[in-house]
Amino acid sequence: MSRSVAIIGAGPAGLMAAEVVARAGHHVVVYERMPSPARKFLMAGRGGLNLTHSEPLDRFVERYGPDAPWLAPAIRAFPPEAVRAWCQALGQPTFVGSSGRVFPHAFKASPLLRAWLGRLADLSVELRLRHTWRGWSDDGALLFEGADGAPVMARPDACVLALGGASWPRLGADGSWTAPLMAAGIPVTALAPANSGLRVAWTPLLRERHAGTPLKRIALTLGHRTVRGEAVITEAGLEGGAVYALTRDVRAALDRGERPLLHLDLRPDLNEPELTQQLGRAGGRPSLPNRLRKASLPPVAAVLLREAEHRPGPPDAATVAGVAAGAAADAAALARCIKAVPIPVDGLAGLARAISTAGGIPQGTVDARFMLRARPGTFVAGEMLDWEAPTGGYLLQATLATGAAAGRGLLAWLGEPAGDTATISHTSPVAQAARLG
Ligand SMILES: Cc1cc2nc3c(=O)[nH]c(=O)nc-3n(C[C@H](O)[C@H](O)[C@H](O)COP(=O)(O)OP(=O)(O)OC[C@H]3O[C@@H](n4cnc5c(N)ncnc54)[C@H](O)[C@@H]3O)c2cc1C
Repeated sequence: MSRSVAIIGAGPAGLMAAEVVARAGHHVVVYERMPSPARKFLMAGRGGLNLTHSEPLDRFVERYGPDAPWLAPAIRAFPPEAVRAWCQALGQPTFVGSSGRVFPHAFKASPLLRAWLGRLADLSVELRLRHTWRGWSDDGALLFEGADGAPVMARPDACVLALGGASWPRLGADGSWTAPLMAAGIPVTALAPANSGLRVAWTPLLRERHAGTPLKRIALTLGHRTVRGEAVITEAGLEGGAVYALTRDVRAALDRGERPLLHLDLRPDLNEPELTQQLGRAGGRPSLPNRLRKASLPPVAAVLLREAEHRPGPPDAATVAGVAAGAAADAAALARCIKAVPIPVDGLAGLARAISTAGGIPQGTVDARFMLRARPGTFVAGEMLDWEAPTGGYLLQATLATGAAAGRGLLAWLGEPAGDTATISHTSPVAQAARLG
């Protein structure tokens, strides 16, 4: 029997849940507050749309850290190869980049989204744009503010909330859903930046002349954790993959009232003796830039070393600045500094500018099917769940997998067979039509 299902939020999590439910023949309406769907997905596509990652599944799942046990069943049920096959079936084949990351050949989200919306239309999924969810009525109906501000009510048989986090709010997900959920007695962990830039009080010289300079093949250490990758100097501080990967640790330090101190290794591929040898090739009493050139370090390295002098605080800053000022007469001392430039962090760049959101609906609030324990028939998917993951395709993978899992959970709750999401990607439109017919 066909039932009515509401999906709220037309991001990748909501659209995936809609696909799973509509394939089972139910009438699906997707409500979205923005004038067009999946704006953040499209924005993600601007950087190449890193859909998932090709590493072995066990290693892949570990990337979710403490959230791995919670998310693993959903990811194993709709793993990276299924995401790739799903894209392929939408006419968007994928490829593995040099770092193991997976991208669509088109390298952007728009062709994939167009094909996906076409598939959903074929499955008779209705999209109601400019509908903002405001919560529940006293008797359990879904309440929306419609396009003209007029109240709209819906009483579906079941519902999936896929309202996203609160980063980049102009793209739609602004975290305003926390109010109606908390008003309904559902716990929500405070939303916080994840994969966020860091604020650093650079000197005007560094800010004005070097904002936008990439720091390639570096390592950043905070406490006992070291991350290799890339970063970019910004006016406000630092952005980039290596920086984002430390967000959880920086946030924890800030929460403890500490001022986190990063150490930047500008040549992590060389150990100290190797670097000393390269720096020593300059001979005589060379200038700092000459020494650094011998070790293939960019001009900004000298600025970062000298910068340490202007930032009071860590004791090693003075040492680094001293070595830099002495034009590195001692190659060994300079090597030590290049491998640990101290950078005190003033804070995170802020939720609105973060790539993703930590916090949200905690694990204990939903059951294994992602259904709210306090509201049977209401499921939750995507970034509004309280999990965190690094960049590298792990965000969209977990978003799509939890969207699919919530859809399957909803079908099970309606009394349908749970289905196998992995087969989504392999089912031809003809086979689909046969199944639906
Ligand atoms: C700049 C940028 C680049 C990124 N690049 C990548 C990448 O390359 N790879 C990767 O894995 N991840 C990337 N991400 C992260 C990825 O885009 C998100 O993890 C993903 O979009 C989350 O999907 P979602 O469906 O849970 O939420 P969203 O995509 O945020 O969708 C939620 C939807 O719900 C709607 N909504 C919110 N509140 C309401 C309401 N009250 N009523 C009705 N509708 C509502 C919103 O308008 C939105 O359309 C990137 C993020 C950003 C910001």
